[in-house]
Amino acid sequence: MEEITYMHPDDLKAVWICHECHKVFVFHSDVDDHKGLSGHKMVEKVTLISPETFA
Ligand SMILES: [Zn+2]
Repeated sequence: MEEITYMHPDDLKAVWICHECHKVFVFHSDVDDHKGLSGHKMVEKVTLISPETFA
């Protein structure tokens, strides 16, 4: 399965954590989807110090 993802400038510099279900989101668009689908609002943005964490 191939999927082309267009990245937001913040992508890979930060992640978002939902404190209501403890999911972690790498893409900001996923956060918007999650808020819309789940109704969860306690999503915190966490800035990454080292992008290599995801390498
Ligand atoms: Zn959630």
